[in-house]
This record gives sequence, structure tokens and C-alpha cells, in this order.
Amino acid sequence: MERSLAAALELALERLALSPSPRSDAEELLTRLLGLARPELTLRRARPLSEEEWGRLGQWLARRASGEPVQYITGRAAFRHLDLMVTRDVLIPRPETEGLVEAVLEVLSAQAARCPAPRVLDLGTGSGAIALAVASEWPPAIVTATDRSVEALAVARANAEALGLGARVRWLAGDWFEPLPPDEKFEVVVSNPPYIATREWDELPDDVRRFEPHQALFAGPGGLDALLEIVDQSPRHLVAGGLLALELAERRAEEVAGWLEGARDWEGVVLRDDLAGRPRHLLARRQGGPAIAPAQWGEER
Ligand code: GLN
Repeated sequence: MERSLAAALELALERLALSPSPRSDAEELLTRLLGLARPELTLRRARPLSEEEWGRLGQWLARRASGEPVQYITGRAAFRHLDLMVTRDVLIPRPETEGLVEAVLEVLSAQAARCPAPRVLDLGTGSGAIALAVASEWPPAIVTATDRSVEALAVARANAEALGLGARVRWLAGDWFEPLPPDEKFEVVVSNPPYIATREWDELPDDVRRFEPHQALFAGPGGLDALLEIVDQSPRHLVAGGLLALELAERRAEEVAGWLEGARDWEGVVLRDDLAGRPRHLLARRQGGPAIAPAQWGEER
């Protein structure tokens, strides 16, 4: 039997024919398996696979065909310009969350003169995606990240070491703000917390339900438990003018924004859309003092 790369690609497309995205899955599995760049899949069509590689490909294709996300199979996920390790202890970082990081970076950049060394807190860091992207893209930031899952923190730490960012992030085990000293303050609090309602179980894609960590997905019967706790406790950990940046579910975005609008602690509350045009990010400024968030936020909508 021929075991060339071209034959491997053909086999992969055949075995993944029923999955939602056969071509991109096949290419991602093969590039990760063989340590190749995408263009090499065609440029090196004749490259033979070893018996071991061929065997592993067969196992990976079977796992993908049974619904396991590609990222858990390869153990890698791309997030902004980072390549992260992921295990089933952490959520697979999503493109929406890249937009949340973008929003935070825009503010840091707009406020760089006023706030040269911003303290940034990432709550429920999971793989470390948000914390590490901020640390790497905004070198002056002083980054702290928390997670209640020690398994997730181990993944985040390993990612930090592998990326040479080990000294840039302080990792703390515990729920939300709980591992912090009660009066420690930050210029930015950012989080992609769990925000799915347990009653929405049936609506979730099967691969998410079967493979991703439930504590990273679900937040009580209404999907609001984590957001409530974070919004409630953020004022005491944000400097005046500090930024709160949260990812949330489109269908509850207005409701959560409503908590902050008109509340004494907050101003400049806005919802921003993700790339698909759905409101997924809530930004707000802690009231009472010079803003670190741009003033025009409040006027955008
Ligand atoms: N902060 C991590 C991410 O954005 C994990 C989020 C989560 O587990 N809910 O990917």
C-alpha cells in the first residue's frame, strides 16, 4: 500500500466525509501529525509516512470521525498569534475571544500614556489564552490569571513556559477573585466566563457537549451565575476608570448590560459585536476618576 502524503490526505478526506469540515480538519490533522506547514501538504505530496505516522493518522481520523474536536486530538489550538497546548481540562479557545482580547488591547493602547504599566486580571483563564495573548501583545502589562481548576492552571503554566512568557503572568488557583488579597486593584479585569444555561444543554453542538469541560461552559440554570459574581465583585478590584471586559451569550447580552447601565459603579457601558455581527462583548468603565477606557465609548451607542 502506498503511504505517501497525497494518499494520507485522500484517506483523511474519505474518512472525514461526514464531519462538518472535512478538508480543513484533514489538513490540520496532517500538518500537526507531521510537523508541516499548510503549503507543504501539496508541495511535498510524495513524502512517505512512516508506519508509526500512518498508524497514528488512523487513530486520529477515527477520533475525529467519532466527533472529537480536532484541537483535543492534536493537543494544539491557535489563538491570535499564539499556538497553545489544550487538553480536555480546558475550553478550546474561540475566535470570539480573540475579539475580546482585541478590545482590551485597543484600550491599553489608547491609554498607554496615562497608564504605562497596566495591571490586567484574567478570570477563569483556562488554557491561559487571554492572559498570554495580552502578555505577549502588550509587553508592559502586568498580568494575573485565576482559575478554580488546578488542571487548567497546569495547562496555562505549561503554555506560558513554552512561549517564554513564564515570568510575565502570575497564576492563582481559586474561584474568580477569591485567591487575591481583598483590596488588590487592577486597571483591567477581563474574562470569558461560563455563560451557558443548563437548560440550553440540548441546543449545544454535540462535540462541545461531549468533549469540553462542563465547568467552563455552564453557569447555572439561567447561565448568569458566573457573570453575576464577576460583575458584583469587580468594582472592589478595579481602579477608578478601570475597564471591565466580558464575553457573554448574545441572547443575554442586553440583560447583562442592563445590570451595569445606570448602576452607581459603572459608566460607558457598551456591547461590541463579534466577527459574525453578534453582540458578544460587554465593556464598561469603573466610575469615579480619570478614565483609562476611552471616553468615546460611552457615546458610541
Ligand atoms: N479564558 C479561557 C478562554 O477564553 C477559558 C474560558 C472558559 O473556560 N470559559 O478560552
